Amino acid sequence: MSIQLFTPTFRVDECLEEIRECLEKGWTGLGFKTVEFEKKWMEYTGLPNAHFISSATVGLSLALKVLKMENGWSNDTEVITTPLTFVSTNHAILYEDLTPVFADVDQFLCLDPVDVEKKITPNTRAIMFVGIGGNSGQYHEIVKLCNKYNLKLILDAAHMAGTRVNGEIPGKEADVAVYSFQAVKNLPTADSGMICFKEKSHDDICRKLTWLGINKDTYARSNDKGAYKWKYDVEYVGYKYHGNSIMASIGLVQLKYLDADNAYRRQLASWYDKNFENHFSKIRPISVAETCESSRHLYVIQVDNRDELLLALNESEVYPGVHYRDNTEYSMYSHAKGTCPNSHYLSERILSLPMHLRLSKNEIDHISKLIIKYA
Ligand SMILES: *Cc1c(COP(=O)(O)O)cnc(C)c1O
Repeated sequence: MSIQLFTPTFRVDECLEEIRECLEKGWTGLGFKTVEFEKKWMEYTGLPNAHFISSATVGLSLALKVLKMENGWSNDTEVITTPLTFVSTNHAILYEDLTPVFADVDQFLCLDPVDVEKKITPNTRAIMFVGIGGNSGQYHEIVKLCNKYNLKLILDAAHMAGTRVNGEIPGKEADVAVYSFQAVKNLPTADSGMICFKEKSHDDICRKLTWLGINKDTYARSNDKGAYKWKYDVEYVGYKYHGNSIMASIGLVQLKYLDADNAYRRQLASWYDKNFENHFSKIRPISVAETCESSRHLYVIQVDNRDELLLALNESEVYPGVHYRDNTEYSMYSHAKGTCPNSHYLSERILSLPMHLRLSKNEIDHISKLIIKYA
């Protein structure tokens, strides 16, 4: 039996029940379940705003677009970001004609505040922080830098559904937090995400932008009977980025189990930890920040023979992954090659081990043995 990196789990009957409600009602689009999911997400996270969207990629793009619009940023504005992330994070900066400036990562694979501070210039307006694998790294040091230098903070929380820091869901300190509910994330739907602005006014603009720039309030408000419902205004060249009720249905079910699921992920991680305990010279698990209760979207180790190990594991039908390749290795971002030596070093050595709810202790032990043998 082969072991995959990610195999999502769905409570099928419960998901189908939620979806059935949409189909029977004849409402599968924006509204209904999307509103319910937004409400439940705000309750769960304690964040003041939440808007359900079609992906985290569009969310990151909108986050920067709204901040750029509202703060009057020019195109030479720099956003400090990490090279060790899914490429969405950095593409989002380019979508908005802003300049990504790469800072190096620390032992948690997250932005290193010391290097971030060095990369701040008079053109810097924001920092994009990615909580890799659910780890908060030195997030609170980054928050301090944002306060000190008056920078906006975008939290790419694509891996952080359910992560807590000092017992609290992080994100309230950020100007905007963006979650992914893509097919293999730790809260999987099929494709969707959530964007959570600190400011209500930003959330208002964002909601118009995710629906072609349409403002349906203008005329509706002036006529109680709704006779002018069709007569909306269009205020922006918006997009078609909002989420739909079918995805929200799945999300609503997943959210009920999120804490329990993440607890099981942490259990899997502690089994790996235990198995590697006496092998730290060759297998170095990336540690989670002390104050962080990670969603454990990922379990990452550092090894010196990563590529050989990966092949050996594949031979045994175990399929790990790499999160992530240093983005400055991609031709798109190669102008920044060499600016983040630690990211480059780690990028060649990190390996993400299978991490999903269908794994048992026996499988973790089996995978661990293979790794100890081949590392
Ligand atoms: C998956 C991912 C995204 C993009 O999420 P989508 O919902 O697939 O668009 C962004 N950032 C990181 C770090 C991710 O892993």
